[in-house]
This record gives sequence, C-alpha cells and structure tokens, in this order.
Amino acid sequence: MTLALVVVLLAQAIPYQRPVETAPQEKTIGGGYKTPPVQKPLPRDYWLQMADVALLGAATGLSVWLAIKRRSRKGLAWLSIGSLAYFGFYREGCICPIGSIQNVTVALTNPAYSIPIVVTAVFFIPLVVALFFGRAFCGGVCPIGAIQDLVVLKPIQTPRRLDRILGLLKYVYLGLAIFFALKPGMARDFLICRFDPFVGFFRRTGAPHMFMLGGAFLITGMFVGRPYCRYLCPYGALLGWCTRLARRGVTVTPDKELDCGLCARACPYGAIEKMRAVRKDCLYCARCYGSCPVYRRRSVSGAGSLDVQGSDS
Ligand code: SF4
Ligand code: SF4
Repeated sequence: MTLALVVVLLAQAIPYQRPVETAPQEKTIGGGYKTPPVQKPLPRDYWLQMADVALLGAATGLSVWLAIKRRSRKGLAWLSIGSLAYFGFYREGCICPIGSIQNVTVALTNPAYSIPIVVTAVFFIPLVVALFFGRAFCGGVCPIGAIQDLVVLKPIQTPRRLDRILGLLKYVYLGLAIFFALKPGMARDFLICRFDPFVGFFRRTGAPHMFMLGGAFLITGMFVGRPYCRYLCPYGALLGWCTRLARRGVTVTPDKELDCGLCARACPYGAIEKMRAVRKDCLYCARCYGSCPVYRRRSVSGAGSLDVQGSDS
C-alpha cells in the first residue's frame, strides 16, 4: 500500500511536444492571437514499450509460479501490489489487455487499421498463459483486479444462481464492445476504455461520474469480491474461455478433500464448487490454500511445496 502511494506521488509526467509553459497566458492573449495546434503526448520510447511487454510477461510467469507451484498468498498479494503500482498508477492504466480487445477487433476486420506489435503482445500474452495455466494474469498482474482485491473486507457469498446470471453480463459487454469498435468512421466507439471505472484513479483525472462509478465498484467490492472482474470484465470472459483448455491450475487441496467446505467459505469470489476451484472463475488469489487443513498439515510437516496437477473444474 505504501509502495502504491509512493508511486502515485512519483508518477511519471506525460511528455509533450512543447514545454507546457509556452501555452498562452491570460495577459498575452490579445489582437492577432492564433490558437496553437492541439498538443499530443509524444509516443513512449520503443525500448520502454518492449520493456513493458517483457515486464508483463515476467509478472504473469511469476504469478503462475506463485499460484501453482509455491501456492503463496503472500507472494501473490505483493506481486499484485507491485503491478498496481507500476501498471496502474505509474503507467496510468496502459498497457491494458482489456482495452486492447477493441484494437485487435478492428485490426482483424479492417486491413487499413494496424496496431503496434506491443498492443498485440499485450493482448495475447495473458490469453496464451491462460491456455496452459489459467487466469494467473488476474491473480497477480492486472491492476484493475489488484485495486479491487485490496478493498475486499467482508465478502458475502453471492447466491449461486444470482452469481451465474450476473456473470452473463460480461459476455453482453464483450459483444457490445466489439459491436461499437466495428462501427465505421466517427461512429466507432471504444466502450471499454470510455467506461473503465478505475482508470480515473490511475491517472488522477477524469469525469466526476466516472470517479463515482469507480468508487461505487470499490465500495461494493468490500462486500462482493471483485465485482468488475466477476460480472463485467470482457477480457475476463476471454480468459475464462481459454482456461477451459488449461491442464494445470489452482487446486485447493493437494490430493484429497475433507468435504469440510472451509475453502469455499474462504474464497471471496465464489469460485469453489463441490470442493473444487472452478477454473474459469478462479481469480488466482490463493486465499483458499491457507484455509485447507490438509494442506496446512502438509506445510507444517515440510511437504507444502506441491507440484499440483490435473483438472479442477
Ligand atoms: S477479470 Fe478482467 S479486470 Fe479482473 S483481473 Fe482479470 S483481466 Fe483484470
Ligand atoms: S478458488 Fe477462490 S480463493 Fe482459491 S485461488 Fe481461486 S479465487 Fe482465490
């Protein structure tokens, strides 16, 4: 948390084409004044963009290792705080696989629209990892997931039926985002970016109604774990599909369960059914491990670092 605050204070200044002080002051505006052309932020150095991609890949790999091999809640919590500080507050919500859905959609359907390799890589890295290891990106890397994870206070278990119905919203949102991204010319709209409820916090600027929306998600998130992730995130929908093919993922108990239900109660995201982590819903927070008496016993006896395998869904 302290780290996140430090990064907010030291957050990068956006570089512009001209010094901002050259903007006309009130007293200089007089007859003959011409409005200067709109300034655009300079593009980030290419090597820095590639460094971001490398960092994203490394953080996702680390998240896989911490969740599946080390089974470390503490490690994942620190990783997600670091990701929130860097990808969230320092990089101000860019780079973002969630928003890149729209760029990739347009690029796939319009030969005149090209996207940088960096955007393509950012879109695919978490999905490819999910194909093999599940939603490790959600557990330790995504700043939007991390900011919601930090506020989880007293999560209630959403009734299963309601949870499933609300979970359908993200597919509707994904469809709408694609539909509006594919509109021609000026009618095109990138809904996911426009209605990102947290980017205002990361950039410390934005429309008041978006701050209110983000605040509402965070307050709700104190009692309903990660509502944006579970019910609205369109990229979460894609990750969920990819995890169906994953051969490895979070397994709550090492080899046999006790049917005690402690893990299901420990999961703030309703991702455990019949003592098994539901692969498409599991957000890789690793809270369930600590609740399992079988696993705790093994940890104490020194056999805690387990190489877990097999399907859990
Ligand atoms: S579900 Fe979406 S917002 Fe949540 S952690 Fe995953 S990618 Fe990020
Ligand atoms: S099953 Fe629940 S508690 Fe366990 S890692 Fe997945 S989301 Fe977290």
